[in-house]
Amino acid sequence: MIRNKGITKNLLDLIGQTPIVQLHKITKDYPGQYFAKIEAFNPGQSAKDRIALHIVENAEKKGILTPGSTIVETTSGNTGFSLAMIAMVKGYSCKLAVSNKSSKDKIDGLRAMGAEVYVCPADVPADDPRSYYEVAKRIHNETPNSVYINQYFNALNIEAHYETTGPEIWEQTEGKITHLVVASGTGGTISGTGKYLKEQNPNIKILGVDAYGSILKKYHETGKFDKNEIYSYKIEGLGKNLIPDATDFSVIDVYEKVTDKDAAYKAREIVTKEGFFPGYTCGAVMQATEQYAAKEMFDEDSFVVLIFPDHGSRYMNKIYSDEWMKEQGFYDSEMPQNSPAIYI
Ligand code: PMP
Repeated sequence: MIRNKGITKNLLDLIGQTPIVQLHKITKDYPGQYFAKIEAFNPGQSAKDRIALHIVENAEKKGILTPGSTIVETTSGNTGFSLAMIAMVKGYSCKLAVSNKSSKDKIDGLRAMGAEVYVCPADVPADDPRSYYEVAKRIHNETPNSVYINQYFNALNIEAHYETTGPEIWEQTEGKITHLVVASGTGGTISGTGKYLKEQNPNIKILGVDAYGSILKKYHETGKFDKNEIYSYKIEGLGKNLIPDATDFSVIDVYEKVTDKDAAYKAREIVTKEGFFPGYTCGAVMQATEQYAAKEMFDEDSFVVLIFPDHGSRYMNKIYSDEWMKEQGFYDSEMPQNSPAIYI
């Protein structure tokens, strides 16, 4: 079979239809079979290409995005990269508010992709005027003919995954999927994909992944907003300090939280065991899967799909940098090691 046979006329036609690859060594001690849907195969190297294209094309159809318009968004980096890429292809301007937690690689990537970037402090409440939510709103208000994508509060975020990621997984697994493990940030991926899959087979379990320092797991369990759950952490794009409208909590069966260190180690372990170069949240999803396995969530008949949201190249100065790992206090004898560089 020849993939992508012939010529693709438009880069954006390559969004979606990402492969699912079986995991072998890293999951060998867990019961059942494990598969990763690798979203880094999107042209913008993350799952966010799907929602960015869906929301932009919806705005075009409604006539609110027209030639000369500016796209404005709040983003941990990946949605911004996808929007900047789409803006470049379609001829729009792009202004992005990112948090200073986003890796330098991501911020440089956005700038290289032609977006104007506003770097905002991560450790302020969501309603602080310096937060990336408030800064994006202000830029939108100050920029004539601009459209605010607003992924956290936009139902089209869920719809993009309901219309693409869900059906792809159902078809690719020929309906055999029993469990889906997904990182939850805005919640668009888990809610849209999970909703579609549960409509096909209500027995499929939707297993969320959250970060220590985030509110989502506790909110899912209690329905209460417990401020004590919130503190700063390093994993980008996972978890939240507010309750996003784009999360449909009724679709999610259970959440598992992971630490910054465990997720970073697992990402490095994926490289050494599976040969795929994953982003930080892929490590988080893999780590949560191990924790779910330890809680006997799976058995010999389990057919588990993990969504791997993005690519490791965005984290060269973070989880793949020994210096960064040392700075975080994550560098110890257990850490999966990079190979040495020998300078001649
Ligand atoms: N992983 C990464 C790297 C992300 O950027 C995001 C989105 N913020 C997620 C996971 C979570 O996806 P979602 O927003 O659809 O919940």
